Amino acid sequence: MKPSRIMLLEAGSGIEMFDEFACPYRLVTPEHESAVRYFVGTSGDGTHLVSTEIPEKFRRAMVAHEACCFELRNTGHCTEAVDFELNFVSSIDRAEYLQLRKQFFDGLVTFYEGRSGVDQKFFHGIKQCRDHLHALA
Ligand SMILES: [Zn+2]
Repeated sequence: MKPSRIMLLEAGSGIEMFDEFACPYRLVTPEHESAVRYFVGTSGDGTHLVSTEIPEKFRRAMVAHEACCFELRNTGHCTEAVDFELNFVSSIDRAEYLQLRKQFFDGLVTFYEGRSGVDQKFFHGIKQCRDHLHALA
């Protein structure tokens, strides 16, 4: 994820543990006119970013996706990360969660579509993710 073109305001921080692997993240407030709802991403230095718009119960799953993507970057990883993150969502919450994720990836693809200078590997990855999520629900 490249959030550099999305205006973000820092609103706190947290940490998720996956076995002995620690994933700190920063909570951010999306600028009110941002096209991307339920924003999650990783900045160039590896800092994970989570929008305050995301319910707290879903933070862990979304950080799991970002950590997975960041570790496996450049390997066509993004749909695998979707399957991984769903391990952290209860069956009761699954439908709600998938709704949020579809809105996020729909918004993300729209945001980057037709822009110049977008990393094509990245763009291809998020489109695959969007399609994978729509196939799930
Ligand atoms: Zn991803």
